[in-house]
Amino acid sequence: MKPLTASFPHLLRNIGDTLWDALFPPRCIGCGRGGYTFCPECWPRVETLPENVCPRCAHPLPPHATTCPHCTSGWWLAQARAVRPYTGLWRKAIHALKYRRNKTLARLFEAEAAETMQRVRWPVSCLVPIPLHPQRLRERGYNQVHLWAAGLARRLRMPYRPQGLERVRPTPSQVHLSREERWANVQGAFQARPQAVWGCRVLLVDDVLTTGATLNEAARTLLQAGAVAVYGLVLARAVFVSESEADTSGHQRPAQAIG
Ligand SMILES: [Zn+2]
Ligand SMILES: [Zn+2]
Repeated sequence: MKPLTASFPHLLRNIGDTLWDALFPPRCIGCGRGGYTFCPECWPRVETLPENVCPRCAHPLPPHATTCPHCTSGWWLAQARAVRPYTGLWRKAIHALKYRRNKTLARLFEAEAAETMQRVRWPVSCLVPIPLHPQRLRERGYNQVHLWAAGLARRLRMPYRPQGLERVRPTPSQVHLSREERWANVQGAFQARPQAVWGCRVLLVDDVLTTGATLNEAARTLLQAGAVAVYGLVLARAVFVSESEADTSGHQRPAQAIG
């Protein structure tokens, strides 16, 4: 992780994090060892994406391939990129943040996302996180994306606009839905505030991209509200061995070793 800029709010945040860590010491996601989010032995085991990924949907492509079967129609995102594949320890880390407020993990996600943004150099001008429906927010108590997205906006020195998008329709969990069901499930799920996104080149962020249904419906809504372009950044990309695997089943098993 890169050191945080030593501004006053950052300093306060560092003090807050230190106190939090003293009360709830982090444990390595991989082996449970105390004092680490990832210990030095486990961190190198966290998988990375290959060099060649589809610029539109972030799915890994075979070396030198330029066409991608995963983002053929209904794709509203200008580009998309993932920090890492949705596999192994990274997947476990994302689950950890979803089900437990873990501040040191949020800082790691923030730093990793910032590093990915440095590589892609997108011409974005404001950051909008994928929102939870108010009912889900009440149940969970926090939006796990907000925990790192707000810090990412600070690092990128970019306005953070969580009010740009709201979830107006509760959507059932997507976990066991097929690709087609996922796209139908999110239709009309969002509403955008034109005054927050009009004229913006939006960096839209979420934790996981599986079929892209949620990100694309959000992107479509933002564009309709006057955003100029929408780029999608996620912590993790589900990786499919074949197109049919993503298409047909309710058991989308991301490949464990690709690239
Ligand atoms: Zn470990
Ligand atoms: Zn693609």
